[in-house]
Amino acid sequence: MVYEKSIEFAVKMDQEDPLKDYRDKFYIPQVNGKDSIYFTGNSLGLQPKNVNKYVNEELNGWATLGVEGHFHSNKRPWFEYHKYSKEALAKIVGANPSEVVSMNSLTTNLHLLMASFYRPTKERFKILIEGGAFPSDQYAVESQIKLHGFDYEEALVEVFPKEGQSTLDLDDFTSAIEQHGDSLALVLIGGIQYYTGQFFPIKEITAAAHKAGAMMGLDLAHAVGNVPLSLHDDGVDFAAWCSYKYLNSGPGGVSGIFVNDKHGLNPDTPRMSGWWGHDEGERFLMEKGFKPMPGADGWQLSNVNILSSAVHLASLEIYEEVGMDALRTKSLKLTGFMEYLLQDVEGIDIITPSKPEERGCQLSLEAKRNGKEAFKKLTEAGVIADWREPNAIRVAPVPLYNTYQDVYRFYEILKEAIG
Ligand SMILES: *Cc1c(COP(=O)(O)O)cnc(C)c1O
Repeated sequence: MVYEKSIEFAVKMDQEDPLKDYRDKFYIPQVNGKDSIYFTGNSLGLQPKNVNKYVNEELNGWATLGVEGHFHSNKRPWFEYHKYSKEALAKIVGANPSEVVSMNSLTTNLHLLMASFYRPTKERFKILIEGGAFPSDQYAVESQIKLHGFDYEEALVEVFPKEGQSTLDLDDFTSAIEQHGDSLALVLIGGIQYYTGQFFPIKEITAAAHKAGAMMGLDLAHAVGNVPLSLHDDGVDFAAWCSYKYLNSGPGGVSGIFVNDKHGLNPDTPRMSGWWGHDEGERFLMEKGFKPMPGADGWQLSNVNILSSAVHLASLEIYEEVGMDALRTKSLKLTGFMEYLLQDVEGIDIITPSKPEERGCQLSLEAKRNGKEAFKKLTEAGVIADWREPNAIRVAPVPLYNTYQDVYRFYEILKEAIG
């Protein structure tokens, strides 16, 4: 891809963009009466305009049918509601439909999945995570280790980049996995590292974990709906994600899980159970003795949060229409354009990997000077980005609703702000 450093080029790219009509399907937050440059889809994705319709249909069902809506809601009976997102989610994460279900929230799901897949023994009890993992993941892992009565310091293995590097190499993971081999119970890392934006080589790390005899789990908060995934083929054991970042499903929106069929189709896989994971044919017999639904469905605890799931369906409709291939194609160009422009800005380093296959749409910028001041100026000029102490600005041009002109205007504003 050959880029040019001009607004005319950005305008031309927008005109030729096959996804250009999608921006209009979202509400763009306003700053000083104008469209903001919204680069925080990695934190909270924007609201699709079709959300109202989906949520209202369920509110109406509730108003007009009451409890009958569980089975007789006009369009989508609530009893089956968790099924309606399956096909779309399976495509997004590269799974069989039986391997995915949406439920609960992300950290809750990480715990539920660790209950199944972190089964430490005296010999094999360690959990390997990436250094500087998202705090909720760190706390979840810490508490799981302690819950099982192990020593946190001894049981936690953190993998950090080599001296002088910001991101991890595959051999950082594989050598740590080999080193702890027999004592390693679980590898649990982000698909994309939230701070650096690095997309980890999932297939290779999974193979190394399995070779050592450990389970492989992923937190896909920053990867889902952002990069192509093939969880089933890569042999990942389990994964969880949130839907409110790239999947645009609203603040605190319903999470999703992946359980590989090799575990999910085995009714003896240990788990925390609730009635919604029980065989649906017998669910309302209210009898003793848990019989799991086959697949990820067997991990459900509670009846579905319909309003949150309605938002999710509205958003997934757009993903079904566009498809991950087209999204990724634009994403590579859009983020590539941003990287090309930012190379020209003195005073910042891009710490996200420069190889496109090692990142999603986010670039993490480290300011060498005036970081916080520059960030303030960006905000005043209508850029919604995010600041991470001590000196990082994270920006995520999202292919569904950001434009090449957003990227170009951001470049001009940043150059001025940091100068
Ligand atoms: C956003 C994010 C979370 C948030 O967890 P919730 O349970 O949804 O609050 C967790 N982990 C990672 C890696 C994240 O990026």
